[in-house]
Amino acid sequence: MNDIFFNQPNWQKELSNAISDVASLYELLELPLPNEFHAPTKFPLRVPHAFIQKMKKGDPNDPLLRQILPDIAESLPVAGYTADPLDENTHNPIKGLLHKYQSRALITVTGACAVHCRYCFRQHFDYGANLPNSQDIRQICHYIANDKNINEVLLSGGDPLNINNRRFNEWIGALSDIDNIKTIRIHTRLPAILPNRIDDEFIDILAYCPKNIVMVLHINHANEIDNALAQKCQTLKKHGVVLLNQSVLLKGVNDNVEILCQLSHALFDIGVLPYYLHILDKVAGSAHFDLPIDRAIQIYWQLLEKLSGYLVPKLVQEVAGKPYKVPIDIYKNC
Ligand SMILES: *Cc1c(COP(=O)(O)O)cnc(C)c1O
Ligand code: SF4
Repeated sequence: MNDIFFNQPNWQKELSNAISDVASLYELLELPLPNEFHAPTKFPLRVPHAFIQKMKKGDPNDPLLRQILPDIAESLPVAGYTADPLDENTHNPIKGLLHKYQSRALITVTGACAVHCRYCFRQHFDYGANLPNSQDIRQICHYIANDKNINEVLLSGGDPLNINNRRFNEWIGALSDIDNIKTIRIHTRLPAILPNRIDDEFIDILAYCPKNIVMVLHINHANEIDNALAQKCQTLKKHGVVLLNQSVLLKGVNDNVEILCQLSHALFDIGVLPYYLHILDKVAGSAHFDLPIDRAIQIYWQLLEKLSGYLVPKLVQEVAGKPYKVPIDIYKNC
């Protein structure tokens, strides 16, 4: 008998059953397979069934499908779009640690994600060279404990919920011992991609953690929100987790005021407040998702007009070398 097999939680089974073959995806969505399609071997298609189920069958322009379907345009070089647009490799004091902003340190606990978002700014990041082992974990905690300016740690990746509960608990335990840390923040797309990831054991880990816990979800479109996610958010909130959301402004996905208003309302309905709306990072392979900054600003003014103040995310952009996420100057053309 193989205990490990029988004890494997459902979400891990769902993760290993993720679709990685373009033809199967078209079939599941009842779409005719085009003569030519893109099937990259580096950063290939990856999407779990739970996310596919939220897509509309027979719609090649489904906003969820567009986020994960490899596009031939990815392989064409575009001037100004590079592998490391944020110059992250220069803020990497220890393997697995990014320290760019004074009071926050970011840990890349894994390079793996449940889904491969085609616009991802970390798609070229060298995770292999950057994954912390047990010794690195001690070094990272030592670094953080020695810099009293740091009061918050971000668990990121990849997706920090891609690791199992035992390893996740190791991180939470180690960080909980650091006095200057007030808040542990988890940046994750997994709840929207695979709601079952938020299992009872995981909830317990957060519930017993003595630090403030903030979870920043990554949802770009209201269609990503369903009952399964709503229930998980309710449970998280019941245990004191603060829920926020960040989105990326993406052409053909959410570059429209109605869609963004729907998103803010749908988030609020499940107890999540909009935090950031990011201008796309200019990473190689993502140019076809970008829109002119003036168009982004125009959409933003419309959002201000339509939404309650607390439902308007901050429009920001990451600029290499800046010690914060840079607010977009919306008065530029006024
Ligand atoms: C985005 C980010 C943070 C967090 O920034 P906030 O403005 O506090 O959300 C911290 N460190 C790094 C490296 C980041 O990219
Ligand atoms: S979940 Fe986040 S880190 Fe992972 S591929 Fe998507 S955008 Fe990138």
